[in-house]
Amino acid sequence: MFKHIPFERVEWITFFFLFGTLAASLTVVPWYLFTHGVDWFQFGLFFFYCCATGLSITLGYHRLFSHISFKAKWPVRLFVTLFGAAAFENSVFDWCSDHRRHHKHVDHDDDPYNINNGFFYAHMGWLLFKLKPEPPQDNINDLRKDPMLVWQHKYVHLIALFMSFILPAAIGYLYNGGQGAMTAFLLSGVLRVVVVQHATFFINSACHYVGNQPYSTKHSARDSWLMAIFTFGEGYHNYHHEFQHDYRNGVKPWQFDPTKWSIWVLSKVGLTSNLRTVSDAKILLAELTEARRRIQNGLEPYQQRPDMREQLTHGVQVTLDRLHEAQEELATCYYQVEKSVRDRVELSKSKVNEWRRELKESLEHLDQLPGLKPIAI
Ligand SMILES: [Zn+2]
Ligand SMILES: [Zn+2]
Repeated sequence: MFKHIPFERVEWITFFFLFGTLAASLTVVPWYLFTHGVDWFQFGLFFFYCCATGLSITLGYHRLFSHISFKAKWPVRLFVTLFGAAAFENSVFDWCSDHRRHHKHVDHDDDPYNINNGFFYAHMGWLLFKLKPEPPQDNINDLRKDPMLVWQHKYVHLIALFMSFILPAAIGYLYNGGQGAMTAFLLSGVLRVVVVQHATFFINSACHYVGNQPYSTKHSARDSWLMAIFTFGEGYHNYHHEFQHDYRNGVKPWQFDPTKWSIWVLSKVGLTSNLRTVSDAKILLAELTEARRRIQNGLEPYQQRPDMREQLTHGVQVTLDRLHEAQEELATCYYQVEKSVRDRVELSKSKVNEWRRELKESLEHLDQLPGLKPIAI
């Protein structure tokens, strides 16, 4: 029965941690809370810890470090580095390297959490079996320049233990002695780790399974408001895979994306900046292309029927053609705008080069004057 399981590749520490915390959350935690009671302070701490560690993964590990979709000042970087470690999802280096490979090779063999290997594999199975040899982390050289991230990578397990278990237990102790410490340890430590891990694991599993594909069908990623609720807004995963450098995942104003809201609010108080977005025209273009494809797929069965063909030609097909025209027009406008911006940039570049050349000539002229040192530019 077990002969197909590659036991030599099992990550036993990860295995016992994931299933140990899950088992405790289903047995010891509810038993203790039920027999000893729990108050609003402990619920508040649990809620804070869920948000702090969850957002550190989505806002920090994902949108800031993996995709550089905005810039953040050091207090934000420090916060997500500390509380991100507390989510027990390894260091920023490990997480981002895997995630960048996921985007580059999505749905293929080199995708570390390839959904084609099944829901469980994409959710947590990939963590339980180590790949040998491990792929090189040659896609995070930009992150290696950040001393804070180098420090986190070196001490990630110690930071995780302290931030995840010791700190909430200490807060609980200060609040209500030994019982307060135990309640906080079990609720804000153990149960919270399980909740946040599975919420973020859903991004790799359910977000490639549940929902629709309004922006692209080139990959398995999907948009789902339900998954967005469980994943701090990352459920709009179809949009994210199509436009991965946009700081928003839920791009529409009404979509539930607390990670996007947090980045935006932080930008208003000067803690984040350079929020990257994709232009409305480009988004609309992707939506129109997908809408046309969906309509055409839906019409296909009717086009085979002679009695329907006539109606289609004078009914739906006309609308479809109009949609196509609108799309072409939009595409032309968009690329014209893009071209004109490109032209302007080229013009500026050639002007700067011209000035630089003039400056060089003037300096060379100066160099010929006696008593002056050469000036380098
Ligand atoms: Zn994905
Ligand atoms: Zn991503």
